Amino acid sequence: MENLTHKIKFWGVRGSFPSPRKDTVIFGGHTSCVEIRTAKNELIVLDMGTGFLDLGSSLMSETNAPSEAHVIVSHFHWDHLFGFLGFAPFFDPMRSFHIYGKDDKMTPEEIIDYIQNPTFWPVSMDMLNAKIDLHTFPNDELVISDDIRIKFTLHGHPNGANSYRIEIGNSVIVYSTDCEHPTEHLNHHVVDNAQDADVLIHDAQYTDEELPAHKGWGHSSWQQAVGVAKAGNVKQLILYHHDPSRNDDAMSQLEADAQGEFPNTLAARQGMEIHIPASY
Ligand SMILES: [Zn+2]
Ligand SMILES: [Zn+2]
Repeated sequence: MENLTHKIKFWGVRGSFPSPRKDTVIFGGHTSCVEIRTAKNELIVLDMGTGFLDLGSSLMSETNAPSEAHVIVSHFHWDHLFGFLGFAPFFDPMRSFHIYGKDDKMTPEEIIDYIQNPTFWPVSMDMLNAKIDLHTFPNDELVISDDIRIKFTLHGHPNGANSYRIEIGNSVIVYSTDCEHPTEHLNHHVVDNAQDADVLIHDAQYTDEELPAHKGWGHSSWQQAVGVAKAGNVKQLILYHHDPSRNDDAMSQLEADAQGEFPNTLAARQGMEIHIPASY
């Protein structure tokens, strides 16, 4: 029997570096990883930061976990990739994974080969028993099933990163992380990509006050995230990719400030789940 909702679960919400400290236990210290579990129990994963490790453990102990998953990577910076190295389901021959990365100077195979260089890590691809297919994200869109399509737009970030628009039946989840907007205005492509989304997960690493000192670092302020949510007419905004130095008190304040501008906003917390009604 099908559930009536799609679940979004945040396994890692931090940007740049893991930040496991006593003053980050509420919002969490793992880096980028979001699970989407559709009402039909299909599994889509956004990014493979250190949160991917806990998702892996969870899948190993879940009796109803799908044997196949689609993993969509925004870009290959370490904070979105490190979890690849220790994802337990990769060792299980009964599982299969399709991993899609942004078009890059290196192919996905070269990137994985690079991070598994034996100087840095003892596990190589041939030790992973799961079926793992590495792909460059298609130029137009990725069609996973009759119900699931994923579109993307490239946005500003050092070496670029992809925003994704995941359409599941009539539901829309948008993921725009590691996204630097132009100084004078919001990136129109990012706004268009977010149009009428049920949930927008958007980079909010900085505040407007902090942004000028981090020009060129490739990130947004929470005010810009709110701007995209308003311009895109989205229903719910999730602030994401938190600065590793921002403690729980500062995160709560940032969330409250954003809620003052766009009430249906939450700052992502590690372990947080959101359910949106499924409509096919
Ligand atoms: Zn990042
Ligand atoms: Zn990055």
